[in-house]
Amino acid sequence: MHPSLLPLLSLLLIKSCEVAQCLYDRMQILAFNHLNFMNPAENEKLSSEKSLEAMWQFSQTYAKRTGTYFCAEPSVTAVVIEGLAKNKDDLGAPLCPCRHYEDKKAEVHATFWNCPCVPMRERKECHCMLFLTPDNEFAGDKQEISLEEIKSARENMA
Ligand code: SF4
Repeated sequence: MHPSLLPLLSLLLIKSCEVAQCLYDRMQILAFNHLNFMNPAENEKLSSEKSLEAMWQFSQTYAKRTGTYFCAEPSVTAVVIEGLAKNKDDLGAPLCPCRHYEDKKAEVHATFWNCPCVPMRERKECHCMLFLTPDNEFAGDKQEISLEEIKSARENMA
């Protein structure tokens, strides 16, 4: 490579790091705000202990079964698990918490977005970033999360 290209290459590398950091920040904000997709009245209450524990266990078991990993930022995982548990309480099924629905009951009935959703089951695509394939830049190295971590993260949402 011609030496005169080095400054340009350095600049490009710096820029791509900035973009990655920006995406990471954005992802966290989205995850923390996902409950805003819900009816404001539904925001008033967090999930029950029973549903939270059920979705916590499910998430760990499913990650191990599919060879996927939780996000490097545990609060993202915690917020999604809480969202699934809340939907399980409110709707009777863990409807994906990262989407907007006109009619949640109809969506539960359709089953496409009940976790694990069809894109996850068919292609390992989890847009909530709960289950990440190892090649995903946001993937951590854990398939477990403590219940305490989830509870601590959701306290910030209350
Ligand atoms: S995107 Fe699919 S697999 Fe991921 S949390 Fe939502 S429903 Fe579950």
